Order: sequence, then structure tokens, then C-alpha cells
Amino acid sequence: MGRSVLVTGGARGIGLAVARELAAAGDAVTVTHRGGDPPGDLTAVPCDVTREDDVRAAFLRVARSQGPVEVLVANAGVTRHGPLALSGDDSAGVVADTNLGGVIRVARYAVRGMMRMRRGRIVLMSSAAAWRGMAGQAVYAATKAGLVGFGRSLAREVAPLGVTVNIVAPGFIDVGMTAAMPPAQRDEALAAVPLGRYGTAEEVAKVVRFLAGEDASYLTGAVIPVDGGFGMGH
Ligand code: NDP
Repeated sequence: MGRSVLVTGGARGIGLAVARELAAAGDAVTVTHRGGDPPGDLTAVPCDVTREDDVRAAFLRVARSQGPVEVLVANAGVTRHGPLALSGDDSAGVVADTNLGGVIRVARYAVRGMMRMRRGRIVLMSSAAAWRGMAGQAVYAATKAGLVGFGRSLAREVAPLGVTVNIVAPGFIDVGMTAAMPPAQRDEALAAVPLGRYGTAEEVAKVVRFLAGEDASYLTGAVIPVDGGFGMGH
């Protein structure tokens, strides 16, 4: 059996492509899901990352079935489209507690095990929205920018233990959130991408596989854009 991998939100979208990429590379991969039909080709555990009990239970189940998590891909995320002026605290709270709170929760459990093993890889799923900014996505962008500060601080904390923490920042990927954008906003988005097309979930997954692998052994605290040039390296 390969390394023990957990991908949050790995039952669909970008997370599913990441999970399949790592499984194809020989890792033992578990994905989290919140109901529905999880993919039949992967092990799935129920987990809402806003719930501490769920996160604890998911890590226990993974440890029992495939060993303590050696690679965490903190991918689960949500957004709510709309101007800030028209939004309420409820929607901001859900976005913050999922995208930032959820990542903090899963990372905490992951590093505890990794500290004991003295090895590990953590990859956080941010977004180009974090530094480009995006109208209608202010809270989402704030949480994704927050992941950079969180990830880089954690990277410094755990580097002496042989654990790396890196951040992937996709631009417009042709699944999930981008696919759900209003058509006019999608067209506007595409016009801002130098490579002139949306990215694929598989293109993000290959970068995650690199960061999670041996070839990235001297990389930590990095933010890697996968955005067709949308952010020109930022
Ligand atoms: P999807 O909407 O397709 O998938 C989101 C995933 O997150 C789902 O698997 C969902 O689980 C999971 N999730 C949401 N809330 C929770 C929660 N509270 N607890 C556990 N899991 C949760 O989105 P994408 O695949 O597009 O996005 C994946 C990540 O990539 C996100 O973090 C997103 O911000 C980021 N990203 C996406 C971009 C894009 O263009 N698509 C661009 C930049 C960043 P469930 O199936 O149970 O609902």
C-alpha cells in the first residue's frame, strides 16, 4: 500500500481529480463527502469540515483503515456569489467556517500525526481570487487569501519535522465553482486568461501530485498558481 492520503471534498470536482491522480500514483486515498453517492472507485468517509466531531472521526477512520494521514489535501470549499451589500452574516459565516475554519480543523489533526511520523505533506486549495480579487466574491477571496498566511505560518512551524505545507491557487477551472458561474461572468473571466481557456481539474491535480511527492522535497510555503496566466505568477 502507498502513502495514506486524505482529500477533503474529494467526491467531486477538483478534489475528485486530485484523489484519482494520487490513487493512480499508488497511494491509499480516502475522500470526504457529505452524503450523496461518493465515487465507487475510492474509499469515502462522511465528514463536514465545519464540524469538529466529524473531522476527528474521519481522521480516526483513515488511521484505522490505511494508517495515519501522510498527505492531506485540504480542498473542500464553498462560495456564495453576490455583492457584499446584499449578503448576510449567515452566508459569510458558512464560507469562512468552511474555507478557513475547515482547513484549520483538518490541518490540526493532520499535523499531530505527521509530527509523530516526522514526515508529511499538506496541500491547501486557495484561489487566484485571493490576490486578483473578484466582484461578488469578497468573503470567498478573503478566506482564500487567509489560507496563504495560515499555510505559510504552518509551514514554518512544521518544517523542522520534515513536513511541508504548500498552497495551490487555481484560476478558472472547468468544473464545480467555475461551471456554476453565471454565463456573462464566465465570458468575462475567460477574456482575462492569457492562455484563452479554462483549466481542467486534472491540470490542478497534477500540480498537487507534484507538491505531495518526493520531487517537491525542498518546497514549502509556496503558492503555486494554476491559472493559465490569469495572475501572472501571483
Ligand atoms: P465543487 O463545488 O465541485 O466541490 C466542492 C467540494 O467541497 C465538494 O466535494 C464538497 O463536498 C466540499 N465541501 C463543501 N463544503 C464542505 C464542508 N462543509 N465539509 C466538507 N466538504 C465540503 O468545487 P470545486 O471542485 O470547483 O472546488 C474545489 C476547491 O477548489 C474549493 O476549495 C474551491 O474554492 C477551489 N477552487 C476552485 C476553482 C474552480 O474554478 N472550480 C478555482 C479556484 C479555487 P460535497 O460533495 O459533500 O458537497
